[in-house]
Amino acid sequence: MVAQWTPAYVAIGSNLDDPQAQVQRTFDALSKVTGSRLIARSRLFRTRPLGPQDQPDFVNAAAGMLTTLSARAFLLELQQIERLMGKQAPTQRWGARRIDLDLIVFGDQSHDEPDLQVPHPGVSSRNFVLYPLLDIAPALSIPGQGRVHELAQRVSGDGIAPLLAT
Ligand code: ADP
Ligand code: MG
Repeated sequence: MVAQWTPAYVAIGSNLDDPQAQVQRTFDALSKVTGSRLIARSRLFRTRPLGPQDQPDFVNAAAGMLTTLSARAFLLELQQIERLMGKQAPTQRWGARRIDLDLIVFGDQSHDEPDLQVPHPGVSSRNFVLYPLLDIAPALSIPGQGRVHELAQRVSGDGIAPLLAT
């Protein structure tokens, strides 16, 4: 059977243990996901945390992939990467974390289950998801929400800036 390739977009965030290095390690890990290809990497952005402010700034980025996996199997791969990178259970909602991988968009699919919500809720209000996506997929349509470039225009750019390439 000919493989079906689905575009999948992943948001990456880290604010502990050398966040820039964590994000680069994540891109490397994403490039090795079974049955999948890493197609695009956004720039890295420094962003102020959502929620509790007494924590370090985040580094955020986005990855564009193609995958032959199902949405559920793909998210399991993302969670496996989080585990391998030493993700600890969060101590508080929106608290500090070494790594967070969120599946933002999976083709034109919508899933609404506690362990698989796609498109990821809150995308349209989060500059730290939309700005990295704008780098790699400005015309991407987020099912039920709009195109990335339209959504990005509606959010504030406060507290987010690209990191200079090193
Ligand atoms: P946070 O809400 O801080 O990102 P976690 O990443 O630790 O917290 O876990 C979030 C939970 O959300 C996981 O148990 C996961 O199964 C679930 N989940 C549902 N949909 C998604 C998605 N699209 N991407 C990532 N996690 C998701
Ligand atoms: Mg998460």
